[in-house]
Order: sequence, then C-alpha cells, then structure tokens
Amino acid sequence: MARAAVLWFGKAMSAVPLRTMTDAAAGQRVVTVLGATGSIGDSTMDLVRLGGERYRVEAITAHQNVEALAKLAREFNVRFAAIGDASKLDELRDALAGTNIGYGAGESAIIEAAARPSDWLMAAVSGAAGLKPALAAVDRGATIALANKECLVCAGDIFMQRAARAGATILPADSEHNALFQALASGNREELTRVIITASGGPFRTWSVAEIEQATLAQALKHPNWSMGQKITIDSASMMNKGLEVIEASYLFALTPDEIDVLVHPQSIVHGMVEFSDCSVVAQLGAPDMRIPIAHCLGWPERITGPAQKLDLAKIGSLTFETPDFSRFPGLRLAYDALRAGKGATTVYNAANEVAVAAFIGERIRFGAIARLVESTMNEMVRTGSMSTPATADDALAVDHNARKTAETLLPQIALKAS
Ligand code: NDP
Ligand code: MG
Repeated sequence: MARAAVLWFGKAMSAVPLRTMTDAAAGQRVVTVLGATGSIGDSTMDLVRLGGERYRVEAITAHQNVEALAKLAREFNVRFAAIGDASKLDELRDALAGTNIGYGAGESAIIEAAARPSDWLMAAVSGAAGLKPALAAVDRGATIALANKECLVCAGDIFMQRAARAGATILPADSEHNALFQALASGNREELTRVIITASGGPFRTWSVAEIEQATLAQALKHPNWSMGQKITIDSASMMNKGLEVIEASYLFALTPDEIDVLVHPQSIVHGMVEFSDCSVVAQLGAPDMRIPIAHCLGWPERITGPAQKLDLAKIGSLTFETPDFSRFPGLRLAYDALRAGKGATTVYNAANEVAVAAFIGERIRFGAIARLVESTMNEMVRTGSMSTPATADDALAVDHNARKTAETLLPQIALKAS
C-alpha cells in the first residue's frame, strides 16, 4: 500500500523548533480548542487553566452546549466562541452579553474559529464533522493536536498531504498514537519493523458472542478504565475504536496494515510500542488519563508539568496482554479489511460506524448489529460500484455521505436479523 505524503515523527522531528508565538511580546502561547465542551476539550481546558498566564485562548467551539461554551468563553476571556448548531446563535449572543467576545454559529463559524491564527490547536470535535474545521487549521500551517481520529479515517491521505503541503505539524493526541510518537523518536523509519497499539478490551472483553449481541447501552457505556465521550465509549466496547485507531496509525505514520498489531492489555498502562530491527521494543507507559498525551502535545517539543497521577507499577503489580479475538469483535477485523481494500473503504467504515452507533443509541439496532451494519455497508458499496479513492476532501465527504445513505437503507434489514 503506497502512502503519498507523510509526516514522520522519528529522530528528524525532534529537531523541529517551537513555532514563533503569536503573542510573543506577552510570552504567551496562543491556543484554540475545537470541541472544548467535550471530554477531550475538558481535559485540554484543565491543562490550559493550570498553565495560567502561559496561555491565551483565541477560540473555542461546541456543537449544542451553549451554556458550557459561554462559561468557558467568559472564564478564559476568549476572542471568539463558535457554536455548531446554527439555531443557537441568539442563545449564544445572550449568554455572552456584556463581554467583548466575538461569536458565531453554524459550521462556517467552527471553520472560522479553526482558521483564526493560533500557535496550537486541539482538534477534538467528535466524528467526521471535525474534518473541515481541522483542514482549516491544516491549511494555515498550524500545530495541531489531533484527537479527532474519525477525520483521518475519513480522509487520511488527503489530510496528511495537505498538512505536508501547508507545513502543518500534526501531533497525535490519541493515547496510543501519542505513545507511538514518543517511542518512534528512538529510531528511523527504515529501522522500524512494526508498531503495537494496546486496547483495554472494553467492558465486553470476556463476554461471549451471544452476550455481546444483546449488550445494553448502559453496559456499553461502562468503560473499565477510561472516562470518555459517549461515541468513543461505545466504539471501545465494540473494539471499533481500535479499528479506527489501526487506520489512524496507518495514515499518521505511513504504515502498512502488516506493520500494525493490536494487543489487548486490560490495565491500560502501556499505550503503544515500537519494535525496531534489532528486536528492541520501545514502549510508552502512563496512567489511563488523557491529560498525559494532551500535555505532551501542549508542551511539545518541550515537556510541561502535568497533573495526572504518577505511575506506581509496584502498586499495579502485573501487566497482562492478550491477542484480540476477531470473531467476537469483528469490527477490528473489518478495519484491516478496509485498509487493505483502499478505494475509500476506510471512509465507508467510519461513516457506517457513525450511523450504527447512533442507531444503537436510538435503540434501533442491537449492539451486535453495529459491526454487521458496517460490513454490509462496505459490501453494498463495492457491489454497487460506489467505491473510489477520494482525491479531495470533498470527494471523501461525498463517499461519506453515500455510505451514510447506504447504511440508513440497510438498517431495517440489519435490525431484524439476529446474529
Ligand atoms: P465528546 O462527545 O465528549 O465531545 C465532542 C465535542 O465536539 C463537544 O465539544 C461537542 O459539542 C463537539 N461536537 C460534537 N459534534 C459536533 C459537530 N457536528 N460539529 C461541531 N462540534 C461538534 O467527545 P470526546 O471528547 O470523547 O472525543 C472527541 C474526539 O476525540 C473524538 O474523535 C474521539 O474519538 C477522540 N478521542 C477521545 C478520547 C477521549 O478520551 N475522550 C481519547 C482519544 C481520542 P457539544 O458539547 O455541544 O455537544
Ligand atoms: Mg485511543
């Protein structure tokens, strides 16, 4: 599998200097947070809050939660706040009354927030809806901490090519990819033999196929180790999250599917490992707290003091590892299939999964049907000749749109079919 343009994070990257600060006179680093009201947004704002005068917040965004957005906007005295839902403009205006904070509503306002100059941007919108805003930051050559994996799975090659062209720096904020980013600094591309990302296994790690089929929303939302937004928590239970992450790793680091392995590691302490030609394996460890990888991105290329729990391995006692079970978690197998198939298959994988998760939350399908809907959508798109390699972001979004329509059409049949 060929990858056209890549940002390699090995030794060469450690020499990249810190970008000039926009508010250099004040000695402040200017930051923007897309998805500021979510789980990643919350952790990011927490770190910015702890940094005090070191940071100034340029812009923040949310989708519907005006109250939380306005509260953050006032606390951080941001220059611009954007709400994705266009119908919430008046509500946001009222919530910001008496301040000088600029505001806007709708997708264009989110894109404006991303496009405004800042030294560092956190991309933490959930889902492929984050693609266009992230690209607006890419096109201005920003330093981007990328949490929003779906935008890479939807349009990875295009995203990385545009980043390379614009001179943008993509810092992986997803814990496993951040671990790889840190471990990759130990060697060069030609010395790498494979990477391993770990998976907690989620709440259904030991469940049978029949039990997983019938799992309820409340059960799927009970992640054993991580506290995260609703969509990614369900993706973790189905292991679709790990599938998305295999694809994310492939695009971020220009790796073939054969160079990416997954290990189930229920303690979530080792996040990622890189194996080199001399058989050395370099790993990154830390408590399961997203403030660790986010702090690494926020401080990069330096280290900042982080508020997470220090790792006490003696207290944890043992770290265990298992091979993932593709038959109980078919969503993971499908991610490898999609990567190998190319031709927009990863875009379809992501879009169909977003439809399936929404349908599961809406009690239209059983938990076990999530992966079935993704597989059927991928097959149907191949059968109808609807698959083609997207050349632009608009092409990728067109494939995404078609895949969502196809998945919606297939939903009633999938809902009726038992496993
Ligand atoms: P949340 O659901 O907690 O937050 C999502 C954020 O994006 C919220 O601010 C939400 O606004 C906003 N948002 C949602 N939909 C849209 C939209 N259509 N347009 C604009 N803004 C939108 O998600 P997480 O923080 O858990 O995850 C964010 C991203 O980071 C995901 O891609 C996820 O896969 C990734 N990630 C998350 C991890 C975690 O620990 N949570 C770990 C690694 C990666 P509002 O609050 O108004 O709805
Ligand atoms: Mg992750």
